[in-house]
Amino acid sequence: MKLNYDVLIVGSGVAGLNTAMHLPEDKDVLVLSKDYAWECNTFFAQGGIAVASDKEDIPLHVKDTLNAGAGHCNKEAVELMCSEGPKAIKDLIDSGFQFDTDEKGDLLYTKEAAHSTNRILHAGGDATGRELHLFLMESLKFPILYNTQVIDLLIKDDICYGVEVFHDDKIFNIYAKKIVIASGGVGSLYEYHTNSRTISADIHGICCEHGIELKDMEMMQFHPTVFVQSTAVRKQLLSEALRGEGAKVVDEDGKRFLFDYDERGELSPRNVVSEALYEHREKTGKAIYLDVSSFETEHFKKRFPSIYFNMKNLGFNLPEDMIPIFPAFHYAIGGVKTNFDAKIETIKDIYFVGEVASVGVHGANRLASNSLLEGLVYSKRVANDITKTFTCKKSNLVFTCKEVTLVKDGDKTLKNELRNLMWQSAGIVRYEEKLKKALNRVEEMLELSTGKLIRLRLLTSRIIIQSALRRKKSLGAHYIRGENKV
Ligand SMILES: Cc1cc2nc3c(=O)[nH]c(=O)nc-3n(C[C@H](O)[C@H](O)[C@H](O)COP(=O)(O)OP(=O)(O)OC[C@H]3O[C@@H](n4cnc5c(N)ncnc54)[C@H](O)[C@@H]3O)c2cc1C
Repeated sequence: MKLNYDVLIVGSGVAGLNTAMHLPEDKDVLVLSKDYAWECNTFFAQGGIAVASDKEDIPLHVKDTLNAGAGHCNKEAVELMCSEGPKAIKDLIDSGFQFDTDEKGDLLYTKEAAHSTNRILHAGGDATGRELHLFLMESLKFPILYNTQVIDLLIKDDICYGVEVFHDDKIFNIYAKKIVIASGGVGSLYEYHTNSRTISADIHGICCEHGIELKDMEMMQFHPTVFVQSTAVRKQLLSEALRGEGAKVVDEDGKRFLFDYDERGELSPRNVVSEALYEHREKTGKAIYLDVSSFETEHFKKRFPSIYFNMKNLGFNLPEDMIPIFPAFHYAIGGVKTNFDAKIETIKDIYFVGEVASVGVHGANRLASNSLLEGLVYSKRVANDITKTFTCKKSNLVFTCKEVTLVKDGDKTLKNELRNLMWQSAGIVRYEEKLKKALNRVEEMLELSTGKLIRLRLLTSRIIIQSALRRKKSLGAHYIRGENKV
């Protein structure tokens, strides 16, 4: 097997595949995927891709993103995403990707919470991620190595030379002149989440081991409308577009209580709705539902086919039945601190792009459907930068593979304990005392003789908790209550 490439891309979601799409064909590129290619968050994205519908909408898109981000965004990064977004979408369409259109062939834009205009493009109704992923996979001109998990970065004298991987029961190194990390977020750290099973914070943990800076790690986003009662590990998301198009949040008495928390009701930003659901249940003990009965049945089936069928399999007859909902972990706003070309200050020849990165576009709270756009815009910048700066020279340094045990007996029990600890302590509502206790427990677990994979989860959890403890006041997705409650 060939072990030396021009470019190595870790991750087969939108950020990884779109980087590949924009790299010239004469480059020798390999894409690594931890599992099947479609086991990524991109594949499960429902609502769509936010993009300014015309030139006049660009400043509005910037404004909405900054507002949702609660003053914590990097304005320049947001402006870049919103202004380069239309071109990134045009590239996709020109290459043959089909968004949903009306009978005349005009693009259909929908609305989602906290957007002031209709600017969400979608495909396959509510299967935007699946359609996009399929398209990017079909367009992929480079090989992809499945079931390959990166377990370390090969770094010497502040240069990255490649990655250490676990594949086919073997551990070995793959080298490249440029390494692109597009490994997604941290979903599996939490007991309740909407993420793919491959999203388990390995790379964040590896970054902690190498002293690579992670930013805004307290900013973890919880999606308010999730059917959390299913037994599956990945909980069924009920897209924000449902609320954007008329679905209502009610309690068991039929009360639309969101207006007690924010005058925008169902169209409030994600964090506001998640916190309102949490508080309402805490105060009243009442069950909470998503009511989609205002949709006409045939329209619902056509507009939200995936949700319709997935919920049917779970025993729900939509749009008639009310769906019990509660927030679940959804998106890692924080990540590896990068510049606008997805580079980091300390190490050369490595890029971090997509959900794994924190370039600053989401601030303290991601605006709905901005994440796929971020992935498209910034991955194209990565490809351009690689093309511009590529040189054939790089030393033939060889790294010795370390003796490492990835999983030990007892790790699964620790993993489940950690997932519960993170959900209870670093979840929707945080208390200082609970965070401190959680930190102590994580430190204790880090002292145990565990396999490497759980250690990487623990390192990432530790930095999330530490960041949450450092931020004393609530901001965006980080909601910390003054009084201690243990
Ligand atoms: C249910 C759901 C619905 C969503 N809906 C929307 C939406 O409508 N609009 C929107 O903008 N955003 C949405 N999001 C968010 C968005 O889908 C993600 O933020 C985005 O797809 C992330 O893309 P990515 O390429 O960075 O990561 P991913 O698509 O998650 O891909 C990560 C890749 O890295 C691989 N990987 C991970 N660790 C390793 C490792 N150690 N070694 C090798 N490979 C590794 C994974 O296998 C995977 O291939 C949604 C998310 C979810 C979960």
